[in-house]
Amino acid sequence: MGKALVMSTAIKGANLTWHEGSVSHEEREKLLNQKGVTVWLTGLSASGKSTIACILEQMLLHRKKAAFRLDGDNVRFGLNKDPRQLMEKSGYSEAAAKRFGLGFSADDRMENIRRIGEVAKLFTDAGVIAITSFISPYRRDRDAVRANMKSGEFIEVYVSVSLETAEKRDPKGLYKKARAGEIKGFTGIDDPYEAPEKPEILIDTETCSPQDAAAMIFHYLEKHGYLTA
Ligand code: ADP
Repeated sequence: MGKALVMSTAIKGANLTWHEGSVSHEEREKLLNQKGVTVWLTGLSASGKSTIACILEQMLLHRKKAAFRLDGDNVRFGLNKDPRQLMEKSGYSEAAAKRFGLGFSADDRMENIRRIGEVAKLFTDAGVIAITSFISPYRRDRDAVRANMKSGEFIEVYVSVSLETAEKRDPKGLYKKARAGEIKGFTGIDDPYEAPEKPEILIDTETCSPQDAAAMIFHYLEKHGYLTA
């Protein structure tokens, strides 16, 4: 193994240096016979993001492609815990929990998406197909994740549904709670959802089944060469 190359561009103001490994991204992709990419599902709560992501992940794994799901709720149980959980479960002081825990204010949603974007980028760099399912309601935050990745490594999938249908599905009873005023700042009710203007893939879940939606994304990946290297 050759010695790791060290890039000279240190980050301004911090004594950090980016280490370039000795295995190239292309070698890694060849080994996996696929290209690293982030499939970013965005849409209202209950639009079907998690359902579609699960089916897509299974389809890819059955084709022997390395894929991994990052899911909204799961990430909020772990990396992006709320302040109360950080105090109760991780023993943080109140001050530290307030600094590092994330809720649902606009700033916290922005940081939530930034951290997830960085994690998705790591998976993408590892040559994996990262499938993210987060409401990610603000266009600016999604665009920032895209801008942080190389061209072609971020595929935005708009999982579209009318508010009326989403409220009818309401698998977690969240819309009901939001309508009753028990949840404040709920996307679609009293917080905005900004639909993508130019998503790579648009899925209308009013007319498309979850299986067909997953197949549509799978075929996009296949057609655009992500499933070979
Ligand atoms: P999200 O992750 O977007 O909050 P979920 O996948 O958790 O949404 O929930 C969506 C619910 O809607 C599931 O219970 C799913 O079975 C149901 N559903 C009904 N029709 C569809 C469809 N065409 N596409 C996706 N989900 C659908």
